[in-house]
Amino acid sequence: LINPWAHDFAAFDLWARPIGVLIIASLLRESGWEPMFVNCLDPDHPEMGPVKVGANAQGRFHRAPIQKPAALSGIARTFCRYGVAPEIVKKDLASMPRPCAILVTSFMTYWYPGVRETISLGREVFPGVPVLLGGVYASLMPGHAAEHCGPDAVISGPAEIGLFESLFEHTGLDIRGDHGRRNLGFSPALDLMRGVRFLPLLTSRGCPLRCAYCASARMLSRFVRRSPEAVIREIESAALHYRVRDIALYDDAFLVDSENHALPILEGAAERAPGMRWHTPNGLHASAITHRVAHALKKAGFETIRIGLESTSDGFHERTGGKTSLATFRSAVQNLKAVGFSTGQIGVYLMVGLPDQTRDQIEQDVEIVLREGAVPKLAEYSPIPGTSMWSSALRTARFPIQQEPLFHNCTLLPAASEGVDAEFLRVTRSRIRAATEAACVAYTGPGKRSVTDGCVRS
Ligand code: SF4
Repeated sequence: LINPWAHDFAAFDLWARPIGVLIIASLLRESGWEPMFVNCLDPDHPEMGPVKVGANAQGRFHRAPIQKPAALSGIARTFCRYGVAPEIVKKDLASMPRPCAILVTSFMTYWYPGVRETISLGREVFPGVPVLLGGVYASLMPGHAAEHCGPDAVISGPAEIGLFESLFEHTGLDIRGDHGRRNLGFSPALDLMRGVRFLPLLTSRGCPLRCAYCASARMLSRFVRRSPEAVIREIESAALHYRVRDIALYDDAFLVDSENHALPILEGAAERAPGMRWHTPNGLHASAITHRVAHALKKAGFETIRIGLESTSDGFHERTGGKTSLATFRSAVQNLKAVGFSTGQIGVYLMVGLPDQTRDQIEQDVEIVLREGAVPKLAEYSPIPGTSMWSSALRTARFPIQQEPLFHNCTLLPAASEGVDAEFLRVTRSRIRAATEAACVAYTGPGKRSVTDGCVRS
C-alpha cells in the first residue's frame, strides 16, 4: 500500500495521516493478506532529517522544488514535491519482498501528478505487479485517473465494495476472509507507520448531511458509526502502546446524535484515558455544541476546536444543505467559552473564493467571527466534481476546471470573484493575526482543507 507524494504550491502536516489506507491494511490483514506500507509523505523518515514539529504534534512535510506542470507555468509560485525524496522511496520499495499487488491511494484531485509519479515508480521497482488505484481522486474522477495515472484498475468509492473483487481479478488470489463482510471497519494498522506521533482516530464514516460544496456523500453515501466502547479501547491502547498524548479526530460528523455517540465516547475517554489532547482538523458541527457537549469536550481534553461556519451570507446555509446558522454558531461559541475554551482554541473555518462571493462578504464573515471571540480560519474553496456547487464553479471559473484537475487547486482561487485574490487574502489574514495575536496559541499555517469535507483539515 502506498500513500503517494503531493505536488503542490503549499501543503502542511496538520495532523495529516492516510487513515483510509491504514484501515484498508487492517482489513487486508484480517482477511489473510500481508500488508506492507510505504508513505511517500512520511514526515518522520529517518533518512530525510527532522522537520519542524509543533507543540500539538502537527508540523511540516519535507519538500523539494520541482518543475511546474505546463498548465501551471503562468503561476508565479514555487511548485514542490511534498514528501520523501524519490530515491529513498525507491530504496524502501526495493528492500521489500515482491508484492502480489500494489494499492495506491489518492486525495486531492489536483494532486494527480504525484499519484502518477508514485505508480510509475512502483512499476519500475516491481515490473509486472498489478497496480490498483483508489481513494478520493480515484472516486471523484475515475475516468481521468485511469487515463492519466496508468493503473491496472481504478477502485471508485468505498474499498469494501470493489477491493477484493479487483484483487481477485488482477492477482488470481481469492483471499477475502469473511466473504459476507460489507463494512470496512475503522481501526488503522498503526504498527505499519514509522512514527506514531498522535492517534489518527475515526469514530464514524460519512455524514448524514449533503452540503453543496462537499464530497463526503460521494465517497460514502451511508453514515456509519462504531461502538463507543471500541473507540475508547482504541484510545487506551494507543496511549499504552505508542505513548501518544494527541488525538486527531477525522470524523465528518462526530457530534451528530451526540447522546448516543460522542458523549459516551468523551465521557469514557476522560475517565479511562485522561490527559489526552484532542484536535479536530475536520471541524465540528456548531449546531451540536450544546452546553453539555462543550463541557464533555473540555473534560476529555479537546485542545484544538475547529467549527465549520463557511459563510454568514444571507441564505447560504439554506441553499447549501443547512449545516449550521449564525444563531447556532453564536450559541456554540458561547457554550465553548462558558466551559473555559479560549479564543485561540476556537478556530472557525470560513470558505473564501466561493462562486459569486464578494470581498465585502468575506470581510463581514471575518468581523462576525472576531466579534464572537473566535479565530477566523480562511479556507480557499476548491471546486469538487460531482458536488452541487460544481455547476456554479464552472460558471464562474477563471480556468478550464472541467478539462484539467490541476485547476481545482484552492491556491489558485479557481472560482473566485474579481478582487478575491491572493493579495486580498494576505491582507485579510494579517488583519486576523493582528486582531487575535494574543489569543492564538498554536501554529497557524494556511493549511489545506480535505476535499471530502467542507468542515476540514490539512
Ligand atoms: S460539509 Fe460537513 S456537514 Fe456538510 S456534508 Fe460535508 S461533512 Fe457533512
